[in-house]
Amino acid sequence: GGGLLHKRALVLEPARIISGLLDNVRVRTGTVEISLQDRLVNAEVFDIIVLATAMETNRQLGWVGLEGRLGQVESVADATPVQAEAMASGHYALALEDQRLWGATFEKIEDGVPAATSAAARATNADALRQLSPWWQRSATSLPVQSRAAIRATTADRLPLVGAVPDYSAALETFSGMRKGRPVDADAPVLPGIFMVNGFGARGFTWGPWAGRVLAAMCLGGPSPAEVA
Ligand SMILES: Cc1cc2nc3c(=O)[nH]c(=O)nc-3n(C[C@H](O)[C@H](O)[C@H](O)COP(=O)(O)OP(=O)(O)OC[C@H]3O[C@@H](n4cnc5c(N)ncnc54)[C@H](O)[C@@H]3O)c2cc1C
Repeated sequence: GGGLLHKRALVLEPARIISGLLDNVRVRTGTVEISLQDRLVNAEVFDIIVLATAMETNRQLGWVGLEGRLGQVESVADATPVQAEAMASGHYALALEDQRLWGATFEKIEDGVPAATSAAARATNADALRQLSPWWQRSATSLPVQSRAAIRATTADRLPLVGAVPDYSAALETFSGMRKGRPVDADAPVLPGIFMVNGFGARGFTWGPWAGRVLAAMCLGGPSPAEVA
């Protein structure tokens, strides 16, 4: 039925691209305790803190209201090696050398419920794959299939949250006149040195690098690489 060919599209391998992006960055992993008012991370003071903690941000900023969307993908290894190929129509199917990957589901999940794979999601993905390519479906599912599920932090309007974190109670006070029809005559009060990048939903790899550049410009006071930010 026709389609759109993205000749310069890429298939990304997250584990490899992330370790590349983190070259020259000092990384410490583990659970982090923060105090936003005092800019403390595990009891150490920082000039700037960027919250990039997905759904956990609901605990750090009670008003932020992120919603979880559970996503499951299926994959096989050791298939016949082929050149990189991607098909998409809502769902997608990717081939990279001897790996195949297809999915993904997009289901509402309550905050706090951990991600888990399910047979129902696997069946949904199998149906979608059959519609994309019956041949591909037969060849991929003849091998042992692995399922993986994770949660996407999503905003109500599907746009990401990038920038300074508002001081919620001060903002309510500053803008209280709006209820009575008064014009907004002040900038939103923010928590000094506290920033966030979040709510990427299903598009974190697409938007992440751009959002990172916008955020770096905000943190360092440089010109923004976005026309509207
Ligand atoms: C099945 C599936 C398929 C997808 N496909 C695509 C795609 O094709 N293209 C695309 O662009 N995007 C895709 N996405 C979406 C993409 O994965 C997300 O948008 C992206 O991962 C969001 O990045 P993030 O860093 O904001 O959040 P996350 O990747 O969720 O990372 C948040 C991190 O914060 C850590 N954390 C939380 N609290 C704390 C704490 N207190 N201390 C320390 N660490 C903490 C967590 O452990 C986690 O590592 C897909 C997602 C899923 C689930």
